[in-house]
Amino acid sequence: MSRVVVVGGGVIGSLHALAALERGHEVIQLERELEARGASVRNFGLIWVSGRRSGAELAFALRSRELWARLADDIPGLGFRANGSLTVVQQEAELAVLEQVMARADASERQLALLDAGEVARLNPAVRGEVLAGLHCRADGAVEPRRVPRAIRAVLERDPRYHWLPGRHVVEVGDGFVRDHAGSRHEGEIVIVCTGASHGFQGWQFEHAPLRRVRLQMLETEPIPARLTTSIADADSLRYYPAFDLPALAALAEPAPIVAEKRIQLLLQQRLDGSLTIGDTHELEEPFDVALAEAPYLHLQERVESILGRPMPAVARRWAGVYSQSRDERLYHRERIGQSTWIVTGAGGRGMTFAPAIAEDVFAAIEAG
Ligand SMILES: Cc1cc2nc3c(=O)[nH]c(=O)nc-3n(C[C@H](O)[C@H](O)[C@H](O)COP(=O)(O)OP(=O)(O)OC[C@H]3O[C@@H](n4cnc5c(N)ncnc54)[C@H](O)[C@@H]3O)c2cc1C
Repeated sequence: MSRVVVVGGGVIGSLHALAALERGHEVIQLERELEARGASVRNFGLIWVSGRRSGAELAFALRSRELWARLADDIPGLGFRANGSLTVVQQEAELAVLEQVMARADASERQLALLDAGEVARLNPAVRGEVLAGLHCRADGAVEPRRVPRAIRAVLERDPRYHWLPGRHVVEVGDGFVRDHAGSRHEGEIVIVCTGASHGFQGWQFEHAPLRRVRLQMLETEPIPARLTTSIADADSLRYYPAFDLPALAALAEPAPIVAEKRIQLLLQQRLDGSLTIGDTHELEEPFDVALAEAPYLHLQERVESILGRPMPAVARRWAGVYSQSRDERLYHRERIGQSTWIVTGAGGRGMTFAPAIAEDVFAAIEAG
């Protein structure tokens, strides 16, 4: 049995802690806050296969989706459901992109079907707005992000080999150890640092890593008295996801200025309590705005109303979140310090989707020496 030190209480840290226990190790998990506070509890909870790039990225997403379904058998508190998604289009040029996606060899791996407006309405009767067609991806799923880290921890805490240390801000990382703000040194044969968008410590010069941070604005409505049977994306998402990087993309209409400026796409996920999580924007230039800008929210509201064909319910809360994104082609950033310490971050807007596969991949790398 080895001692594994995990830093970060988000989904990536927590799934590494779980993977370590499953491999027979003792685990110490440090978190600077009292609970996870980062991207893992601020996201949509989309387990998103549909938009992934063909090849290695799609294979990784499919593997992770399979692992989420297995985790859900043991941890019902994750709120995982295989609800699928609909990417809704309203213009012929957008439909042409979906037709090219359907023509690609991996359409069946993604479990895609192209639906006309009538089929969209039958699949998801809450979609009663202007719809030309919809791309149905049965491989997509969802979890309840605000519950995920706690639900995983409830399972971890059943094991006497697991130790949760909240309120410990790690300030130094070295080979086989970390040091927290109180000066305590935590040593392990394996140390895995999953601090999300919190880059850089004494001992890790993140300036040399191909990483950047991205800030997103989100909102959540009051519950609606209708059930959305799938997650929803609009045609602006075609510009963001590499799966749609096809010749027909060039013929899309110019995006509205606010969409171009704030890099907006509509993603919409109904929570288990009936409320709607809606986003998002993408801000790349630091320092990020401290405030939430209103104009993107007005645009997103128009998009929701145009697709659902009903007024958007009252907004219950708004927030922003920041993720760490790898700037190169890698699916996530894994960096080794000495023999025993691994920095694991940079999965970008795919981190919730990829988290179980990342933990599996990191342990494969550790075990390979
Ligand atoms: C608004 C938004 C929407 C998103 N939507 C999706 C989505 O629908 N699907 C998807 O796949 N991905 C999505 N993502 C991306 C995904 O949320 C992230 O990639 C993922 O949550 C990263 O997990 P993490 O555990 O690495 O980071 P985090 O969740 O940020 O966790 C890091 C933890 O480390 C702690 N920490 C930081 N520094 C220290 C320190 N020095 N000492 C101790 N603890 C420390 C933090 O307090 C935090 O709790 C979204 C991201 C955002 C921001």
